[in-house]
Amino acid sequence: VLASAGAVERTYALDRRHVFHSWSAQATVDPMVVTRAEGSWLWDGDGTKLLDFTSQLVFTNLGHQHPRIVRAIQRQAAKLCTIAPAHANDARSEAARLIAAHTPADLDRVFFTNGGADANEHAIRMARLHTGRHKVLSTYRSYHGGTQLAVNVTGDPRRWASDHATAGTVHFFGPFLYRSPFSATTEQEECERALAHLEQVVAFEGPETIAAVVLESIPGTAGIMVPPPGYLRGVRDLCDRHGIVYIADEVMAGFGRAGRWFAVEHGDVAPDLLTFAKGVNCGYVPLGGVAISDAIYETFAQRPYPGGLTYSGHPLACAAAVATIQVMEDEGVVDHADRLGREVFGPALAELARKHAWIGEVRGVGVFWALELVADRVTREPLAPYGGGSAAMTAIMTAAKDEGLLPFVNFNRIHLVPPLNISADEALVGIGMLDRALSRAARSV
Ligand code: PLP
Repeated sequence: VLASAGAVERTYALDRRHVFHSWSAQATVDPMVVTRAEGSWLWDGDGTKLLDFTSQLVFTNLGHQHPRIVRAIQRQAAKLCTIAPAHANDARSEAARLIAAHTPADLDRVFFTNGGADANEHAIRMARLHTGRHKVLSTYRSYHGGTQLAVNVTGDPRRWASDHATAGTVHFFGPFLYRSPFSATTEQEECERALAHLEQVVAFEGPETIAAVVLESIPGTAGIMVPPPGYLRGVRDLCDRHGIVYIADEVMAGFGRAGRWFAVEHGDVAPDLLTFAKGVNCGYVPLGGVAISDAIYETFAQRPYPGGLTYSGHPLACAAAVATIQVMEDEGVVDHADRLGREVFGPALAELARKHAWIGEVRGVGVFWALELVADRVTREPLAPYGGGSAAMTAIMTAAKDEGLLPFVNFNRIHLVPPLNISADEALVGIGMLDRALSRAARSV
């Protein structure tokens, strides 16, 4: 049952009167009222049904209102809504066990946080105390969270307003062949040159001053650039040579999104710390965390770890994580995501690129895809500038919604990131909507 027009109006009016929105000029905010959501679909205030190709902020990995997750939260609420982090609790213990069962190598201890930003903050704190060093290296094309240190580690323009000279953060360029910062023309060249560049940054910053390299295993919001073969291995080796902690940020790419439990598996390496959030429990209740290697665990075996959160390992969030991971195991969701990437998204988006001159590049893996849109395929001029928008991108967004599709748009890119358990048929329905939206937008601009 959808909400009445009056209820929708009231929701909207109260939002505009009292809710302060993220990353926005408040007077320009125009939120869509959502009255219902189920699986890969949601309904707006007018009752229009939309296919959710965003998984919201790429977190409803098993779709909206998954009955097993909803039931797990309800049962946990009836049993024990909350308990302080110092106590042991069955939901928390079981969530930690299940997460550790899937993280690479010896990353078997889990520190729970409320989301991705604080997971990265704590991972960096652990790395700094473990190494006795301060600096943190990360890529320009990255997002690591909105809190003070996490936003400084972030490379994308959301960092600019909060840049803080004493944060100890240094940025470098990761591999991105389509817009190679190294003038490379092959994946192998891009990989070699990106690693040589990072080696130089480390040398010039002083290896003995660097606590950690923080790296999204596949950069997400920055553009879904799957690293070339050998890159993550090269980063791992570089960190080993210099005693630097390798932090893999798997907040967006982890928990099956890239067709593996963790995207770092594509590079066949294990980090020292791995941060997660979002897909760990579909975001039904806020949860994030850091998975910790034995060596870093040992640093804090006898010496107290100076950090904590009131809601670390919140039972409702952990019960949702247990149910999410069990559904992923029982229903083969990671293999399904991998197959969707190879058999549906890959071929269908390649076909889309043949039809639409705006599509400069298609890239991705699993259920994690980006269309890089360009005004000109030869010059590769982006359809919107870095950090900005354009009339063409707005036209595409509007046309997509008219077709019944909710797309994830960032600068000159469209990301296709629906729930991992979307069916092949529904995925093709969404790609068909995008196909028609691109044609309509191209005619209108
Ligand atoms: N790291 C990555 C890769 C992310 O994509 C995000 C959020 O989009 C974060 C960290 C921050 O997570 P949160 O918004 O839960 O703090």
